[in-house]
Amino acid sequence: MPQVNLNGDLVDKSAAKISVYDHGLLYGDGVFEGIRVYSGKVFRLHEHVERLYESALHLLLDIPWPRDRVIAEVLRTVEANKKIDGYIRLVITRGEGTLGLDPEKCGRPQVIIIVDDISLYPPKMYDEGMEVITSSIIRSHPNTISPRVKSLNYLNNILAKIEATRAGVPEAIMLNHLGEVAECTADNLFLVKHGLLRTPPISAGILEGVTRNTVIDLAEASGVTVQEMALTRHDVYTADELFLTGTGAEIISVVKVDGRVIGNGKPGPISKNLRERYQVLVRS
Ligand code: PMP
Repeated sequence: MPQVNLNGDLVDKSAAKISVYDHGLLYGDGVFEGIRVYSGKVFRLHEHVERLYESALHLLLDIPWPRDRVIAEVLRTVEANKKIDGYIRLVITRGEGTLGLDPEKCGRPQVIIIVDDISLYPPKMYDEGMEVITSSIIRSHPNTISPRVKSLNYLNNILAKIEATRAGVPEAIMLNHLGEVAECTADNLFLVKHGLLRTPPISAGILEGVTRNTVIDLAEASGVTVQEMALTRHDVYTADELFLTGTGAEIISVVKVDGRVIGNGKPGPISKNLRERYQVLVRS
């Protein structure tokens, strides 16, 4: 039975319970990270923990442990579950409170660390590329809760995801309030045009993906110029290559958007090369 870390105690999955008065449940008041374990090593743990603390700081949510304790508890939980390749879900909720919004009335924030298997897209989709749509749901306006905060409230992304699955595709591109390309429901987006790698800037209202940053580094190290710039649907429709990045999806090519074929309809050479380099890096 998987062992879940609940506030520093390792308990069986079936015994890992929190209060129905927890504001994480009542209001989506909390933050989280999704992290991968490859060949027994946790990939980019420090970067994920840093983003977790930044998200929490934005929400004035005090994580009850210092960073090194969070890191140690994550590693301990991976070890307890003997997980060589898997997925970690690190969650901090506001804690048990009253039925009102006020977080000041909440007790201690709850720390939850789940280590489990990851369900990936089928291998065929990585070989052939996926199809996506553009969603009618826009990414959170930067003057609401910042899209940089990885909070427990994913409702607009969930609505976009439902729109995608009802259209028969696994993902949707979300535009921002200006009509620019932001990201997908749980992945960042990159395109290739005339050999240049382009991705929306953080100011487009996106989550600063750990995979995104890794891919930018890998591209630059392999001599590909990366441009963080505002992108529109025009740029997407006329791209030579298109791919998504995320902890779960890793790097996956997109070959059709809104029924239109992108590039030659197959994963392109720069995307394939970056995917190969990424696979080597995560297991190095
Ligand atoms: N955007 C959103 C909205 C996400 O939820 C995620 C997944 N956490 C990403 C992008 C990709 O981020 P990362 O590469 O850090 O997993």
